[in-house]
Amino acid sequence: MNKKLDVLIIGAGPTGLTLALALSRYGLSFRIVERASGPSVVSKAIGIQARSLELFARLGVAEDLMENAIKINQGNLYVNGAWQAKLDFTDLNTPFPFVTLLPQSETERILEARLATYGHIVERDTELTGFAQFPTFVTATLQHKGETETVDASFIIGADGANSFVRRELGLPFSGKSFKESWALADIEVDWPLSSEEVHIFFSDHGVIESFPLQSNLFRITGNLTSGPVPTDHKAIDDFLQNRAKVPFELKKVHWYSMFRVHNRIIEKFGHHRIYLIGDAAHINSPVGGQ
Ligand SMILES: Cc1cc2nc3c(=O)[nH]c(=O)nc-3n(C[C@H](O)[C@H](O)[C@H](O)COP(=O)(O)OP(=O)(O)OC[C@H]3O[C@@H](n4cnc5c(N)ncnc54)[C@H](O)[C@@H]3O)c2cc1C
Repeated sequence: MNKKLDVLIIGAGPTGLTLALALSRYGLSFRIVERASGPSVVSKAIGIQARSLELFARLGVAEDLMENAIKINQGNLYVNGAWQAKLDFTDLNTPFPFVTLLPQSETERILEARLATYGHIVERDTELTGFAQFPTFVTATLQHKGETETVDASFIIGADGANSFVRRELGLPFSGKSFKESWALADIEVDWPLSSEEVHIFFSDHGVIESFPLQSNLFRITGNLTSGPVPTDHKAIDDFLQNRAKVPFELKKVHWYSMFRVHNRIIEKFGHHRIYLIGDAAHINSPVGGQ
C-alpha cells in the first residue's frame, strides 16, 4: 500500500517549483511531478517583480536569482523615435527597487537546483491523468513511460499551467476575457546605440515595441501586432523593429520568437476540498499587469 503524502504537486513550472521549495522548508512530505521530459529551455517570462523577489528572499533563493539576473534601474520612453522621458524604479518601496530580468528557463533551473539541496527532485515524464477525492485524502493516477501509478495524498496542488488538467477535471470555469490583439516576442542579438542596462519602450504610428536586455547585446523585444502576419524570420523581425524603434541598428541574430495573446481570467475559488490551484492554472493576466 502506498504511503500517504502530504502534498502532490502537479507541474514544475516556476509556481510548482516555488511551492516545492516552500514545502521543503516546512518539512512536509511531497512529490512534484512534471509531464515534460526535460527542463524548459526557452526564456518565456523574463521579468521578476519586486514582490516575487521578496517572497523568494523568504525562501532563501533571491540571492541566487539576483546573481544570475540583470538589474534594471531605469527605462526610457520614445515616441516616433524621439526620446521623451525617463522611468526611474529606484524609489520603489521594497528591498528590490528595480526590474529584475532573467530568462524563465534560468529561474526554473535555479529553483530546481535549490530544491535538490533539500533532497527533492522533479519527477519528469510523469503526467497526472486522473484523481478522486475522499473525505480525508485524494487519490491521483500518474502515468510514467507507459506505467500507471496510484498515489494517495492529503492534498493535490495543480500548478499545471494555463490549460490546467486539474482545473478542467474539476469543471471550473476560467472566467474573464481574452483580448483580441496578439503580441509578438523575440530574443534577438542587435547592435544599436541604446544602453543595454535600461529598458526601452517605443511608441510609434505602427504600434508599440518594448526592449529588455537579457545579456550584453541580447534583447527581448515584444510588440503588439497591429496588422500583417506574426514576424517569424530575420527580415520580418528587422522590419518590425525598424518601423517602431526608428533608431539605427543591425539585427545580428534571432534566437527565439513566439507570440501571445493577453488574457484576464481567474477561477472563483482556489481551493476545492482537497485540491488547490495556483499560478497560471488559477489566474492569467497581462505580463505587465499581473500584480
Ligand atoms: C511562449 C510563451 C511565452 C511567454 N512569455 C511570457 C513573457 O514574456 N512574460 C510573462 O510574464 N509571461 C510569459 N509567458 C507566461 C509564463 O511563462 C507563465 O505565466 C508561467 O510559466 C506560469 O507558470 P506556472 O508555473 O503557473 O505554469 P507553467 O510554467 O505553464 O508550468 C506548468 C507545468 O505543468 C506541466 N503540466 C501540465 N499538465 C500536467 C499534467 N497533467 N501532469 C504533469 N505536469 C503537467 C507542464 O508541462 C508545465 O511544465 C509565456 C508563456 C509562453 C508559453
